Amino acid sequence: MCCCTLCWNEPFSQTEQVIRSLSSTVNSSGDTVDKAVAAFIDKYGVTERTRRFLEAEKRHYINGEFVAGAEMMPVLEPCTGAQLAAVPSGTSAEVDAAVAAANHAFRHGEWSSWTPAQRERVLMKLANLVEENVQTLAEIESLDAGKAIAGCREVDIGGSIDLLRYMAGWATKVDGATRQVSVAGQHFAYTLKEPVGVIGAIVPWNWPFNMAVWKLAAPLAAGCTVVLKPAQLTPLSMLFFAELCEEAGLPPGVINIVTGRGSSMGNDLTRHPGIDKISFTGSTEVGVSVGKAAMENVSHVTLELGGKSPMIVFEDADIERVVEATQQSIFFNTGQVCSAGSRLYVQRPVYEATIKAIVDRATVMRVGPTLDEQTDMGPAISAGQKASVLEYIAIGREEGARIVCGGEDPGGEGYFLQPTVFADCDNSMRIVQEEIFGPVLVVIPFDDEEEALQLANDSIYGLAASVFTRDISRAHRLVKKIEAGTVWVNTHDMIDANTPFGGVKQSGIGKDLGPEQLDHFLETKAVWIAL
Ligand code: NAD
Repeated sequence: MCCCTLCWNEPFSQTEQVIRSLSSTVNSSGDTVDKAVAAFIDKYGVTERTRRFLEAEKRHYINGEFVAGAEMMPVLEPCTGAQLAAVPSGTSAEVDAAVAAANHAFRHGEWSSWTPAQRERVLMKLANLVEENVQTLAEIESLDAGKAIAGCREVDIGGSIDLLRYMAGWATKVDGATRQVSVAGQHFAYTLKEPVGVIGAIVPWNWPFNMAVWKLAAPLAAGCTVVLKPAQLTPLSMLFFAELCEEAGLPPGVINIVTGRGSSMGNDLTRHPGIDKISFTGSTEVGVSVGKAAMENVSHVTLELGGKSPMIVFEDADIERVVEATQQSIFFNTGQVCSAGSRLYVQRPVYEATIKAIVDRATVMRVGPTLDEQTDMGPAISAGQKASVLEYIAIGREEGARIVCGGEDPGGEGYFLQPTVFADCDNSMRIVQEEIFGPVLVVIPFDDEEEALQLANDSIYGLAASVFTRDISRAHRLVKKIEAGTVWVNTHDMIDANTPFGGVKQSGIGKDLGPEQLDHFLETKAVWIAL
């Protein structure tokens, strides 16, 4: 059984936090931070700025102003399942206002006359402000998205700071090209790279801040403006980010943040004729409908979608590396990771030993309260997500897979799950083919390289994959043949601002990160001059 620590009645562990009771907090819009959430926060403590943010009324950020929403919706804290905040549930009129502001800023506003160096400086300043507020951002994100705080600070917020700086550097390095044309007469031709325009950015709940920065940094470096819709379950860190945009001195309308439901205002944003490009990260199902809707306006689209990424372990692999990689992918962020190594193919001679090593590590994971610095794994994002994962676990049992770790509902308050491992699976099972999006690993044996490749590619998805072997020739052979946007060798889930990330097959269209992403926000104009 897992060593779950689902109780926060432990000694207070944080020393440099400002603590003040939130127990009776009522913000100015009259919405109470639920007592259970307030007690949780009081137990662990948060910075003064986090506390001030939680107490304040939450508003959209449109045209450089914080605008009250016509309707509100609750935001729940996943360790308790109780209300953390209330945010605007965006309306069509609010989407219209945000898109109009972004259009004005792009075509006529101060931003349209800024030089690349000015854009670079403001992005650098934003990065510095995020860094100065790293603890506050990590706390808000941890409370909102149920993320273990240590990993959240380092990966979610730390990775976002790196990306803001990386893309800031690109602002001054966008070049066109001269062309040697062959038509009769004397002509000079060249290309200009120009910003695409107004970007509608839609992000999921599993990396709310990080995914939003992935969607913002490149278009801003390119000179675009953005209307961003956070996931309805996790809007808070982006509303705090809006305060940092103000401090950084971004002109009005360059970044607009509207919170609300995907099916209503997300849909409004996607279909809006004032949007030049949709940059979407989320499920394949919603991505397909977003792509179709965007085509009605012939908007540009990039889609970063779901995955069911294979990890292939050969008998010569370093098993300790495999254990580390599974820990960092399928159990990190409660398995709510698009590129999680969720299908593990193991060569028969090391099959049982690999499973045992993974289970030994999984059973000592600390599953517990997210604000505790010692926690490895927090809860699922919502009651619905927890129920969906438990349903897949039941399906796995019915399909005849062997549970070797976890698989039970730990019960209690909040949306906690156990790290779960199914052995003896085969590719026909739903738990092997479908994205579970929880801490559930399925393990399948194989005999040789050809079979491993066939099994790994037998999926509608193609987001990522990894190969574990000491045979460098085999590694290179498989890298070329695996159908995935990223292939890691002897590791999994490594991501860097300068290395493109994105899927093939039903995992998406286009890349985030690296110069490849910047290119998605630039239009190429051809210019001819008769000499
Ligand atoms: P989701 O598709 O349900 O929602 C994503 C976003 O789309 C949310 O902001 C949601 O409000 C919005 N939305 C929902 N319906 C919409 C509609 N009709 N029109 C416009 N917007 C709409 O995904 P999720 O449950 O938030 O996130 C989990 C999924 O995201 C998983 O499938 C995961 O693999 C994927 N994901 C992919 C990547 C990647 O880089 N490929 C990264 C993170 C997550």
